[in-house]
Amino acid sequence: MSTIKSIAIVGGTHGNELTGINIVKALDKGLTNQFDDVFKFEYIIANPSAVAANVRFIDVDLNRQFGIHNLSCSNSRLYELNIAKVLDQKLGPKHSPRTDLVIDIHNTTSAMGATLILLEDSPFYRNMAGYLKARMPDVNILLEDEISYLEHPYLCTTGKRGIMLELGCQPHGVSRMDIFLQCETMLQSVFEYCDLYNRDAMPEQPTFDAYRLIENVQFPLNEEEEVTGLVHETLLDRDFCAVEVGDPIFRLFDGTEIFLTGTHTVYPHFINEAAYRNSKVAFATATKFKW
Ligand SMILES: [Zn+2]
Repeated sequence: MSTIKSIAIVGGTHGNELTGINIVKALDKGLTNQFDDVFKFEYIIANPSAVAANVRFIDVDLNRQFGIHNLSCSNSRLYELNIAKVLDQKLGPKHSPRTDLVIDIHNTTSAMGATLILLEDSPFYRNMAGYLKARMPDVNILLEDEISYLEHPYLCTTGKRGIMLELGCQPHGVSRMDIFLQCETMLQSVFEYCDLYNRDAMPEQPTFDAYRLIENVQFPLNEEEEVTGLVHETLLDRDFCAVEVGDPIFRLFDGTEIFLTGTHTVYPHFINEAAYRNSKVAFATATKFKW
């Protein structure tokens, strides 16, 4: 069993998501962390230029630059690709990581609440999710295992293990203390879990509800790729709630309703996420399962 000795806590991967930035700076400046003697911590502001400018990124989304191909390509004028290579050397490298666990903290403008995003279906992650659900019953567990851990382009995959904390809803560029406190509790729970895991004192967690990513869904578009409608008014702020086949999901500006097609119930999340405006993604869908 490979134990967790080193933990990197990362904020500011997206420069206008302030919870991670606040918490990383506070921890770095001595905010009490009762696990200081248990783990070797590193506190990292991933994209300082984007943080200074209060924008998501300068050239490209940093949290999509950690694919193996990107990290091995020589020379780029893209600011974030160069930072990705530096961070990969510092935390990873991805093919042989020096950091046991990378925790990357994000905010969303959608009403997802506190969500733990995991990238692999394995006992380590399943038990972590179960432990968090037991400590914080309102936490949502989102599993994105449609591709393998190493294939993901996310920053946290520079670690031997990597997770993302997604906290909403909080507008980008805004700090809320209730969200900060939720993030603190999530981090504490993850540290507790890792400590129990290291001591082989973690009982197998009972089954719990989780969500598994299906796909991103774009807004209705016309032939010029312009948005022709919005998320249906009955779907707003209902992240992780069931939408049945035949339920309305969009309303076009002319009033026409668009309904969910297909064969099964879905659980939308990242509904109306502000950062997805350019990609015209309206929400992502998931299935619900017992994990
Ligand atoms: Zn983010």
